Amino acid sequence: MIKIAYKKNITQIYYDNLANREFQKENNKTLKELFDEKFKTEFDCTLEDLLYGSFEKLQEIKDRLGDMSKRDDVKELFNYETKFQKHISKFFEQYVEVHTCYFCNIEFINTFMTKDEKIKNGFTLDHYIDKGKYPYLALSLYNLIPSCYTCNSKVKRVHSVETLSPASTHFDFDNKVKFKTFMQNRNLQIDCEDDFALLLKEDFSDIYKQYIDVFELDGRYKYHKYKVIEMINRRKEYPDSRIKELALLTQKTEEEVKQDLFSEYLFEDDNLHKRPLSKLVKDIFSELGLA
Ligand SMILES: [Zn+2]
Repeated sequence: MIKIAYKKNITQIYYDNLANREFQKENNKTLKELFDEKFKTEFDCTLEDLLYGSFEKLQEIKDRLGDMSKRDDVKELFNYETKFQKHISKFFEQYVEVHTCYFCNIEFINTFMTKDEKIKNGFTLDHYIDKGKYPYLALSLYNLIPSCYTCNSKVKRVHSVETLSPASTHFDFDNKVKFKTFMQNRNLQIDCEDDFALLLKEDFSDIYKQYIDVFELDGRYKYHKYKVIEMINRRKEYPDSRIKELALLTQKTEEEVKQDLFSEYLFEDDNLHKRPLSKLVKDIFSELGLA
């Protein structure tokens, strides 16, 4: 739901971190050496392509190489769980901003420090393109999405997602898809949760429909209708005329008054991933004529 904003120049660090890891069973040869020796010709791509190729590049490689779920030699080399997982998690802790789940924006998945000063994290890394079927993409930076447990295990596993990933530069979910309320009562007023349906709607296309379905977003956000009620009630208390008055009174701009009243961090798109439900709040704000 939220596009990942990667920091600059992290790909080389990621690459060095993995490519030089040694395999004891293979006479301490590195991932890079083993890949070049065993797979480079067959795969017709480089280890760089696999480790930090763009999401689109990975899709192209996937379509070309296809299902390798039965190739033990490939699984052995790109073994995420036993050999690389902890190094990759550390990399994400250090170099990728991780606050809320990039798939759903419902849960916090932040890192924290324990009493004995160890860094722990609340995220799982989801392989957007299934690593069981395509084991050669198990270590690919842009195939890994920091996500909550619900998105990674509970809901997603049933289907793979065919649409763009939050790791893709073309991922445009925030612009294309909006939370919208739909009245369900006759007096056209929202007073309680039963008065409306809350749904994600995409304008003029169906690109993200499957994404919304797979992650069960409409069903999961139904629980969070209370947030919409809170905003609507606050908006009733502070119509535009009241905001104008307050702006004059406090000598602030109307924009600043809105931010004080309705939430400070939500008016900048770059910050959406920092707080849970911020996309919901932003879209409903705009529906209420505040943004
Ligand atoms: Zn999630």
